Amino acid sequence: MEPGGVNYLLEFTYLIASILFIFGLKGLSHPESARRGMFMAEAGMLAAIIGTLFHNGIITYEWIAAGLVIGSVIGALMAIWVPMTAMPQRTALSHALGAIAAALVGIAEYTLHGGPEMPLFIRGALGFEVMLGTLTTTGSLIAAGKLQGFVRGTPVQFKGQQVVNLLLFGGMAGCFVYSVGHPSASLIFYTMTGLGFLFGVMLVIPIGSADMPVVMSLLNSYAGLASAATGFVLGNNVLIIAGTLDGFSGLILSILMCKAMNRSITNVLFGGFGAVRAATAAGAGGEMREISLNDAAVRLAYASKVVFVPGYGLALAQAQQAVRDLANALEERGVTVKYGIHPVAGRMPGHMNVLLAEANVPYGDLYEMDQINPEFPSTDVVVVVGANDVVNPDARDNSNSPIAGMPILEVDKAKSVIVLKRGQGRGFSGLENPLFCKPVTSMLYGDAKASLTALAHEVKNL
Ligand code: NAP
Repeated sequence: MEPGGVNYLLEFTYLIASILFIFGLKGLSHPESARRGMFMAEAGMLAAIIGTLFHNGIITYEWIAAGLVIGSVIGALMAIWVPMTAMPQRTALSHALGAIAAALVGIAEYTLHGGPEMPLFIRGALGFEVMLGTLTTTGSLIAAGKLQGFVRGTPVQFKGQQVVNLLLFGGMAGCFVYSVGHPSASLIFYTMTGLGFLFGVMLVIPIGSADMPVVMSLLNSYAGLASAATGFVLGNNVLIIAGTLDGFSGLILSILMCKAMNRSITNVLFGGFGAVRAATAAGAGGEMREISLNDAAVRLAYASKVVFVPGYGLALAQAQQAVRDLANALEERGVTVKYGIHPVAGRMPGHMNVLLAEANVPYGDLYEMDQINPEFPSTDVVVVVGANDVVNPDARDNSNSPIAGMPILEVDKAKSVIVLKRGQGRGFSGLENPLFCKPVTSMLYGDAKASLTALAHEVKNL
């Protein structure tokens, strides 16, 4: 094929890939179309890979084939082995891999073609790519380590930390500007690369693991922008489009998550959330009352409206099917069943929606926080399934609480609340929860899946 023809085919597949990415992202914005959106984005990625194989600059296919095999094997093993509950750290690892790829391409381009003959704009894009790529790599690795428990989850802070970080950032940015203006100063370029790796570590260690999902979403945004910069360096349109989509969707997601927690991005990045919890957490006080399985089943069976509020414990217990089975048993008795979903319930955005979709819970039964909150006063029983922080009334009532102002599901306004949890464990923020001691609340201790299964059995036998 003529070289011109080959490039035409390449650009055409890139165009198809870009369209698929855009429609895929649109599909991901609603639970009903999310699966289709994911398939479209995957098809887009396949089109982009196939298109790239027609690139007339390819010298040898052996290395590409080896990369494809190794990458596919690692991807498949991660998909099989990594449990749903470890999805956030798996995502952080993926960001690290994407970012190191962008950084390595940048370093390779600099080594091969860097110099005064490289246009100024491309030099800038290349430096930007390497800077963001390196800091995202180590930042994402630390985030994954914190979420997995390999790295201390509480903020690692020391005196003068922000000054050290500012100096590091200044040094890295200074090297970037200098190396753009002096393309032959390779020592400065590689110093910037090293500082980028170091800055990624320093940026993430002072942040507590409770804020890691927001940090990851921000790092995702950086990785996207690094890829877009790679696209400019390589003259690759699909990288520019996909990287920009990734970069800005990550940023929007971070902002939405912060809004759902009533925090600012700067508070997440520099607030050291979690370090001061012992000093400011309000004691819950009072006593928790336990309810027997049979009493809980009777209360549910004779209710007219029941709302399930799932949280991270649902994910840990893998209780999505059990909650659906109990809901079915109640609906068969004429009880109205709804699910109240908090935007940051679980450990990643949409965590509860994904789990409940696995159990084929109808989307129409899922209610967002603003929709379900006005319904609690008319709800007979709220069943809190492994949720804690997202139903903590301290966020509303205690202005000294570290989570003060975070919007919550106001389950304490319901006629009665049954909390399913294993024991006295705290939520991810580490705070006590006064909900558990309120007069409306009863505790049903045990693994959520076991409790729900037993409740469904009891309800069916009533
Ligand atoms: P949570 O506050 O982490 O509480 C989970 C509760 O589940 C714990 O109190 C635990 O108590 C219970 N649990 C654990 N395993 C269980 C099992 N097998 N059966 C029954 N219960 C079990 O969860 P959440 O209410 O969903 O709150 C999410 C937290 O993550 C919030 O602080 C939120 O700000 C933070 N966060 C989330 C996102 C996101 O994107 N989703 C982003 C940033 C931050 P026991 O140990 O006593 O059982």
